[in-house]
Amino acid sequence: MDRREFLESSTVLAGGALLGAIGLAQSQSPMLGIQVGAVSFVDEGTDAVLDGLHEMAAINTLFVATFTYGRGIAGRQLPNQPLPDHGRQEYDTSTFRGGNYATPHPQYYRDTAIAPEHAPDHGPYDVLADVIPKAHRRGMKVIAWFEDVIAGDVPGFDKAREVVLAGPASTFACSRNPHTRHFWLALVEDYLRSYDVDGLMWGSERQGPLGNVLGTNHGGAGSGGRIACFCQYCVDAAKKDGVNVDRAREGYTRLAAWAENVGRGTKPADGAFVTFWRLLVQYPEILAWERLWNDALYDTYRDMHRRAKEIAPAKGIGWHVWHNNSFSPFYRAEQDYTAYAAYSDFLKVVMYNLCGGERLAQYVRGATRSLFADFTPEQTLELTYTAQQYHGGALADLAAQGLPASYVKRETARAMANAGPMKIWPGIDVDIPTAATSKKTGPQDVYDAVKAAFDGGAHGVLLSRKYSEMRLDNIRAAGRAVRELKLA
Ligand SMILES: [Zn+2]
Repeated sequence: MDRREFLESSTVLAGGALLGAIGLAQSQSPMLGIQVGAVSFVDEGTDAVLDGLHEMAAINTLFVATFTYGRGIAGRQLPNQPLPDHGRQEYDTSTFRGGNYATPHPQYYRDTAIAPEHAPDHGPYDVLADVIPKAHRRGMKVIAWFEDVIAGDVPGFDKAREVVLAGPASTFACSRNPHTRHFWLALVEDYLRSYDVDGLMWGSERQGPLGNVLGTNHGGAGSGGRIACFCQYCVDAAKKDGVNVDRAREGYTRLAAWAENVGRGTKPADGAFVTFWRLLVQYPEILAWERLWNDALYDTYRDMHRRAKEIAPAKGIGWHVWHNNSFSPFYRAEQDYTAYAAYSDFLKVVMYNLCGGERLAQYVRGATRSLFADFTPEQTLELTYTAQQYHGGALADLAAQGLPASYVKRETARAMANAGPMKIWPGIDVDIPTAATSKKTGPQDVYDAVKAAFDGGAHGVLLSRKYSEMRLDNIRAAGRAVRELKLA
């Protein structure tokens, strides 16, 4: 036995390494994170924000919104929602635009037509350049947090836009289009090479053509996207895969007509569900196109992960998993955590239980207008609870009550069961805007949700979706929970 073999087979070494690994795991405190946009640092002062977050909720990781054109993770409170008890007491409707809240470095964007725009909202302000040194001085980590939301008028976006079967244009870029792929890879490279970030998180809140034609999502018709993508890249991928493109078009055309009829209240003699399934059997290309759509997104994750590891192997990269994962069993089936583990260091699984009631009710009403038109909305809700293995209140009370904290625990445990080496960081909602009559966040709600996440085995929690809409007493309630659990 040579020395190398001896070392490999040495139980002493193996035992030592094992103990070392366990020691490391024990010394790792849980990730206590919050999503925060540039506007909060500009409005309130970076040092004050960081000290406040540390003091209120023992926050050790900042998920700084670095790229989006959407108001979900950037900008101040939404107009017509009450402003929280901190920050500038006015809305930013006239100054919000979005883009890259850091500084795009043009050398990384040579392979994409999509223009890397600096967000003009706060002049030349670069949120990463400002926040990273101040956070690191306090022992806080900074994750660059960016999402699949590009404004339609960004120069070059039209070269990347999804091609729809019919109807209004897609607001999304095709994940298979090289301009799109290279744009996301450029952001990965730019953030990792230009800044001392501690990791990256990207999110994509959209689904394939099948879910979109069925309306199986929250947020109303079209919020998950359109019947797409039929661009040349997707058509070529289908042909390469032996999928009949004409049959896919025909199947989706018939399915769209079916959905329109059923949505109008015209019930086929054989019922909505049976006639849907009949189309699926007659046109298996419908499912094939759904798979192709997802494959392009999975490939995007895989490519971003690979690029990140080439540049900074020790830094984590992971994904925000859209809330529809909790509502639509069809979308849920496509979020296979075991598969994610091959190209993810962590998942932020959205488990917003407070706005979750309103959103689940939206999903149920949408699905009951199509696939489940043979059922009552209450039956659709019961089916949804049973299939997804958590339970909440009755449909009539759902929006006003929200989902119970037990849903957070259940969803965390489900994620943990398939996480493998991935970290699971449940997204906890704090003051996410809802309708006036729907559930609003209170301190006890946040406390309960944070405790439920750790009860389910979470490796951390991520307060969402942006500090600029959260009330301070609700943030403090998260701190109370983690201190009671002796996690901080
Ligand atoms: Zn495409």
